[in-house]
Amino acid sequence: MKFWSDTTKKLKPYIPGEQLNETEIVKLNTNENPFSPSPLVIQEIKKLVETDLKKYPDPQSNELKDSIAKFYTTDSFKIDNKNIFIGNGSDEVLAHVFMAFFSGKKLYFPNITYSFYPVYCGLYGIDYNPVPLNEKFEIEKNNYENLDGNIIFPNPNAPTGIDMPLDIIEEILIKNPDNLVVVDEAYIDFGGQSALGLINKYKNLLIVQTFSKSRSLAGMRIGFAMGDNNLIEGLTRVKDSFNSYPLDKVAQIAGKASMEDKKYFEYTSNKIIENREWTISQLKIRKIETLPSMANFIFVKVDKAESIYKKLKERKILVRYFNQPLINNFLRISIGTKKEMEILIKNIDEIMGE
Ligand SMILES: *Cc1c(COP(=O)(O)O)cnc(C)c1O
Repeated sequence: MKFWSDTTKKLKPYIPGEQLNETEIVKLNTNENPFSPSPLVIQEIKKLVETDLKKYPDPQSNELKDSIAKFYTTDSFKIDNKNIFIGNGSDEVLAHVFMAFFSGKKLYFPNITYSFYPVYCGLYGIDYNPVPLNEKFEIEKNNYENLDGNIIFPNPNAPTGIDMPLDIIEEILIKNPDNLVVVDEAYIDFGGQSALGLINKYKNLLIVQTFSKSRSLAGMRIGFAMGDNNLIEGLTRVKDSFNSYPLDKVAQIAGKASMEDKKYFEYTSNKIIENREWTISQLKIRKIETLPSMANFIFVKVDKAESIYKKLKERKILVRYFNQPLINNFLRISIGTKKEMEILIKNIDEIMGE
């Protein structure tokens, strides 16, 4: 630790799920999409790689922003390029959000949630308050009234998968006019209701989304935020003080192509929802309880969760186990292809039958 600053010494970094390089593994531990990216994405990447990589990319990813704006603009809702911020994965977007808006103030988030939030608080010295979920593992809106600090939560929440109805998010926005409310919508495309439609009405709302889950581009690292102009300018100021070119040309073109292929996006998202419902029903037949999920993963309640996690791993099936109070009798299982889910169920039967 020689030469390390006090900040570095005190950091408690995020621990991501394992990435193993074995091909025969059934990988259900990091909520990746089992489908390949859209064929249009692959085609556009090939074209780009054959032409110009020698120049710097557009620092603001404007064409990608335009494609996002186009994807979300409807007859009744308009979003502009100026309301969008792009980053190298939504984790980087979140890091900039914490620095730009949360630093120096109190922050509230659920006691069971995305474990990167407390890590960023450690990095920026932010004082945070974990807010308990209720006994059904839901975010309890009464705990988010008239707070004296900013708020962040994923919707649907991770690792529970439980979503929050839009009217409750709107109530939280109304009850916190002077606090920023950040809704991390990493899993919104699997059945939840996005709060995006509220950004023109509430200047204290920022939505964060990613291409990693519903768009099969975790390896490309593309995330974005949407909200009032003022918030986007704040984020851009931080980004331009850190790295002007967070997205390379390949990522920008891939993201744009993905936004343009709406059919493929809808097809693959629907398949995952179908596979999720199938898996939940199979577990239910076996009297195994699952929290209601609107995500591409399920949170499954089992006795001896750690031992089942290990036994599945021996059988080359990776799921996620959190050795943490309140959730140490749960496994988080990402939704893969139908075939992968069948393998999972078969192995659970064998393990339970032992
Ligand atoms: C996966 C995830 C992210 C990060 O996504 P990237 O864009 O891959 O960095 C952010 N928030 C939540 C809640 C996630 O689960």
